[in-house]
Amino acid sequence: MITFEEAYRIVTESSFRLGKEVVGLAEAAGRALTLPVKSDMDMPPWNKSAVDGYACRHADLGHELTVLETIAAGAMPEKEVTSGTCSRIMTGAAVPAGADYVFMLENSEELPDGRVRFTGRPGNDNIAKAGEDIMKDQTVLRAGRYIRPQDIAVLASVGATRVTVSCRPHVGVISTGNELVEPDHVPAGAQIRNSNSSQLLAQIARSGAIGRYYGIARDEEESITELMKKALAENDVLLISGGVSFGDFDLVPQVMRSLGLKIHFDQVAMQPGKPLTFCTGEKKAVFGLPGNPVSTFVQFEVMVRAFLDRMAGVTEHAPVLQMPIAADYSRKRAERLSWIPCTITAAGEAMPVEYHGSAHITSLSGAWGVITVPRGQSWIQKGETVSVRQI
Ligand code: AMP
Ligand code: MG
Repeated sequence: MITFEEAYRIVTESSFRLGKEVVGLAEAAGRALTLPVKSDMDMPPWNKSAVDGYACRHADLGHELTVLETIAAGAMPEKEVTSGTCSRIMTGAAVPAGADYVFMLENSEELPDGRVRFTGRPGNDNIAKAGEDIMKDQTVLRAGRYIRPQDIAVLASVGATRVTVSCRPHVGVISTGNELVEPDHVPAGAQIRNSNSSQLLAQIARSGAIGRYYGIARDEEESITELMKKALAENDVLLISGGVSFGDFDLVPQVMRSLGLKIHFDQVAMQPGKPLTFCTGEKKAVFGLPGNPVSTFVQFEVMVRAFLDRMAGVTEHAPVLQMPIAADYSRKRAERLSWIPCTITAAGEAMPVEYHGSAHITSLSGAWGVITVPRGQSWIQKGETVSVRQI
């Protein structure tokens, strides 16, 4: 049995890169950027009014001002503001030459002769300076990160309508177990519904990869071999749930061996998910995930996702937060690193939720994240700082 850290190192070091492709903005969200993006212009491109109001000279704020013109967004100013004058200006319009202050409509008074007067107190000039957000040639997005919706606005603003991203990995999913029926069946006798496959496919989609489902293998070597062969041929990564423990019908590891795959480890000192089995072939990786759905879920998040991130060339990871625990926590045995489901209280503390173990799917569904309980630690006192990751 190896430690989580050792298993994580092996998994991430075994990851391999796929090719790159160029996609348009509409397909860019969620993709991993592999080339940095630079701006082709200053943003804002010119001094820009941040409010609807009047552009004038700061020195003129106490005076009654003649209005030269009205500048709408999208129109260039035609007149220079000089002493005793101002221009009516709209939000997003270019500030005219000669003006160094914009006072808001709300702080103005129109006089009977058509002139205007500032009625507020001098403060912020309400001008966004040319280039204050982005400078021309500045790198606006670094390579090695997933593109988020807010990044799309940056790409659009700098005209980066085509971006270079990693190709999405293809990930096959197989469940094993004679007891399993698909979710649209009503289980009879000793059957239960297959929840892992749907869960894994959703996790794969969330991580930016392309999932494909291959069905349920019976707990027989031939059945597992057949599905694994097909899925391996058609995917970069294969996730096979169940059948990796040490029961009489846990046949996945021996099928992995018979297919010529190299098993790197088959037990990790972590909970849930001790029998996690990881093997590789030529530009292929297979994760044998424990059958219990909470284990499968957590192992995907902590291991498979790290592997997929590396494949995508993504080096940034979701932050692990440090926060106080909201209640005492204890466990009987402490030889494994464990993750326990938690919510976040209104006071910003991590509250462990009722959790009966690795089959307790509603516990996970009701959780915001998981608290890491380090190996060797069996007791955490309320108020102690714990590491929490969102799930
Ligand atoms: P195994 O790892 O095959 O020994 O399975 C461990 C536990 O997880 C057993 O109670 C199985 O019935 C359950 N299990 C295995 N695969 C699935 C699945 N695809 N969906 C839901 N539960 C499963
Ligand atoms: Mg099984």
